[in-house]
Amino acid sequence: MITNPFLTNQYKNISGITLIDSGNPGKNLGLLAITHGNETVGLKVFAYLKQEILKKHPLQQGKLFLIAMNLLAYEEHRRFIDDNMNRISNQAYKSTSYEHQRLGELKPILREMDITLDIHSFSNSHDIVAICDIQNREKAKQIFTTETILVDNLEQSGSIIGYCTRKQKEAYGIECGLHDDPEGFERGKEEILNFLEYYQYLPPNNRKKERKQQNIYQFREKIQPITKDFKFTRDFSGFSYLKENEVFAKDGDIEHKNTLGKNIYLGIPAKEPRVNDSAGFLFKKLE
Ligand SMILES: [Zn+2]
Repeated sequence: MITNPFLTNQYKNISGITLIDSGNPGKNLGLLAITHGNETVGLKVFAYLKQEILKKHPLQQGKLFLIAMNLLAYEEHRRFIDDNMNRISNQAYKSTSYEHQRLGELKPILREMDITLDIHSFSNSHDIVAICDIQNREKAKQIFTTETILVDNLEQSGSIIGYCTRKQKEAYGIECGLHDDPEGFERGKEEILNFLEYYQYLPPNNRKKERKQQNIYQFREKIQPITKDFKFTRDFSGFSYLKENEVFAKDGDIEHKNTLGKNIYLGIPAKEPRVNDSAGFLFKKLE
């Protein structure tokens, strides 16, 4: 059996954590992978950093933690076992849920992080997207060259980075294109190098950074299916403009329509919307 060391490495007796210590003073930076078990790009980034980048350029300062979040869902090639790990960080502990148990053991470690980046991929989009708290919007534009940046009031979201931003700490997310897409990995890893260089964990290098016009969207509403018959009214992918009062989905007898007015986009549509998970989100375009 081949085991991935990033799943078995331990820190303070907790599996799935690989510590890389520069030996120099500095902050704790956490890179997070497989918060959703079927989004494996973060583990590929871990291997790339350890085997290629850090051999050439030792970590300049502080400690780097590579954290594999949802171990069991990864082993079962599933997004999650009982609960979406990226929506429960603000919920009361449920001892019967695998994700609550695993997050319970990881929270003391996440609290040690000063800066966090959670690495994801999409089920239905090739976009490379950065996610940040509304107060870090300008900084995110400096760090990332992604075509899209999503801003949100993260602490209310129940997401992992929402948990990691409390107490003035910084946390970001990155979506690296479609699940298992080699191009998503190639473009995502460049953004993760941008991140490590921005915070001076790696030396600046001369890779050409192409910063195009960046689209900035603010999270407005989650689209939540309540029946098995939830269907989008057309093929949505990436970020799609919605007209005012446009019906974008039907769910049994219920019509979902854009009542939020102008400049509204439907983003991150799920490929197979399910009752126990969001089907996508509505965003307001800011830039
Ligand atoms: Zn994800």
